[in-house]
Amino acid sequence: MIEVGKSYDAEELAKLCGQEEDERYGHHAFVGERATVIAQDEGNGVVKVVQIISQTPVCPSCGEKIDTIHTSRTINLIHKDGKWLEEQADHYCISQCPACSEELSPEELDLMGVPNEIR
Ligand SMILES: [Zn+2]
Repeated sequence: MIEVGKSYDAEELAKLCGQEEDERYGHHAFVGERATVIAQDEGNGVVKVVQIISQTPVCPSCGEKIDTIHTSRTINLIHKDGKWLEEQADHYCISQCPACSEELSPEELDLMGVPNEIR
């Protein structure tokens, strides 16, 4: 996952964005199939990311672009104070890549930018 405020080797950032090679437009925008970011030149082939325009999550195991994560989460419906509410039943939940079925660790979910509240 590309992060704002972090410095990258320009060629490495081009690869992370999904570009074939380092093709920078006006030395500021990296436009690739996986990400489009605005970066500032810091000299010596190093650039600092100032804005992420778009970024497609990529599975850390198989490298596939994914827009779905399968989970084993179980939800109970509970009747409380006259209303039906949703309650998460188990606290241990497995998250899997739909492409390779590899289990995604909390650290990998961090890398992919999945917020804690919805895990
Ligand atoms: Zn995968």
